[in-house]
Amino acid sequence: MFCPKCKSMLVLNRATGQRECKRPNCNHSESKGETKITSREIEKKEMVVTEGLEGTLPTAKIICEKCDHNEATWVIRQTRAADEPSTRIYQCTNAKCKHKWREY
Ligand SMILES: [Zn+2]
Ligand SMILES: [Zn+2]
Repeated sequence: MFCPKCKSMLVLNRATGQRECKRPNCNHSESKGETKITSREIEKKEMVVTEGLEGTLPTAKIICEKCDHNEATWVIRQTRAADEPSTRIYQCTNAKCKHKWREY
C-alpha cells in the first residue's frame, strides 16, 4: 500500500488499524478496506444530464416564439454553481420547428 498523495509507503498503525503515511507534511491515513470516492467521481454525479430524453419529458402549454405552436417540452438545467438558479429550457414539440429557448 502506498500513499495516494505522496506515493511513499504506508505504515500500519496497530492501535487504530489504519494505514498511515509517515511523511512529514502529508499525514495521510486511511481505514482498512475503505474505498475512497475520488473527486472525479463526485463531479460526475453532480452533472445533471437532461438532454437526449425526448419522449419522457414533461410538456408545458407555452407559445413557441418561432412557429406559434402552443406546446413545448421542458427540462431543468442545473448549473454547477450553487448560487446560480436553475434554468428551464423549453423545446417546441412541433417536429418541423424544434426551437429551443430558455426561460428568463
Ligand atoms: Zn503521504
Ligand atoms: Zn416552434
